[in-house]
Amino acid sequence: MARIGFIGLGNMGLPMAQNLIKAGHTVAGFDMVRASAEKLSAAGGTPSPGIAAAVKDAEVVITMLPAGQHVRDVYLAGDGVLASVKPGTLLIDSSTIDVETARAVAKAADAKGLAMLDAPVSGGVGGAQGGTLTFMVGGSADAFARAKPILETMGKTIVHAGGSGNGQAAKICNNMILGVSMIAVSEAFVLAEKLGLDAQKLFDISSKSSGQCWSMTAYCPVPGPVPTSPANRDYQAGFTAAMMHKDLKLAQDAAAAAGASTPMGAQAAALYGRYCECGEAGRDFSGIIRFLNQS
Ligand code: NAD
Repeated sequence: MARIGFIGLGNMGLPMAQNLIKAGHTVAGFDMVRASAEKLSAAGGTPSPGIAAAVKDAEVVITMLPAGQHVRDVYLAGDGVLASVKPGTLLIDSSTIDVETARAVAKAADAKGLAMLDAPVSGGVGGAQGGTLTFMVGGSADAFARAKPILETMGKTIVHAGGSGNGQAAKICNNMILGVSMIAVSEAFVLAEKLGLDAQKLFDISSKSSGQCWSMTAYCPVPGPVPTSPANRDYQAGFTAAMMHKDLKLAQDAAAAAGASTPMGAQAAALYGRYCECGEAGRDFSGIIRFLNQS
């Protein structure tokens, strides 16, 4: 069992840390919001007063932070992770951030002789609570082999995507598919209604035909066909429209930097931006069907 320092105990980080504790690891955690860190005590973890205190004795550090700038701050600051850990500590960042930051921070870690992985997740808060996340991991094969047993206590599918930054690359490519496909499925239901085609009939046909995809069969944006989808509970998130917009913008920034043509991804980013501006940023991302219905 490992001594783990966990930074960022928000919606995702706290249940991930709780699963590590349940599996028998020792977890010291820090969050800027004191009340979030305090919640670790109830699970048997130790809330720490700062980053250095949380990571100084750790064999593994895991971070789960909002965006690239937070990751730079937490790792690179004078009293941050790189300055505070022991030699040999394995560093794992599970935040969803830009590829460039992931590679830059891993390079700074490498310069100090520390192995670092980018390991963003898919599966949302439900996956974090249930320990069923998918981890997409970028970094060396050695570091991946060391991290895998730890990640397996928080996730079900752990994939080594290649070198540093490739975990983030996989995450934004996957979520670009998801954003585009959710809009496509939503548009089909909007059109079907206008043509007098019952939503359940479209589902019965498309979920078994060439139009089938996860946005249709697992997360259907109309109420009825898939009882567990957020459409059946007024589009309460789930995965918020703001998070989808963030990931689509990361994909667009990466596409611009790499010179990749992603016109559908660009449209999806623009549409989710407009949906968020309507005051729906905290709504589930599948709620975009209501926005499309009104446009
Ligand atoms: P969150 O905002 O609930 O949690 C982030 C936590 O980081 C907050 O508690 C915040 O106080 C803390 N924090 C920020 N700066 C800090 C610092 N300098 N030091 C210590 N703590 C700091 O966000 P979340 O929903 O848990 O998401 C975390 C990451 O996971 C994001 O990158 C997000 O894109 C990604 N993600 C989220 C979901 C989801 O469904 N929520 C799904 C997949 C991936």
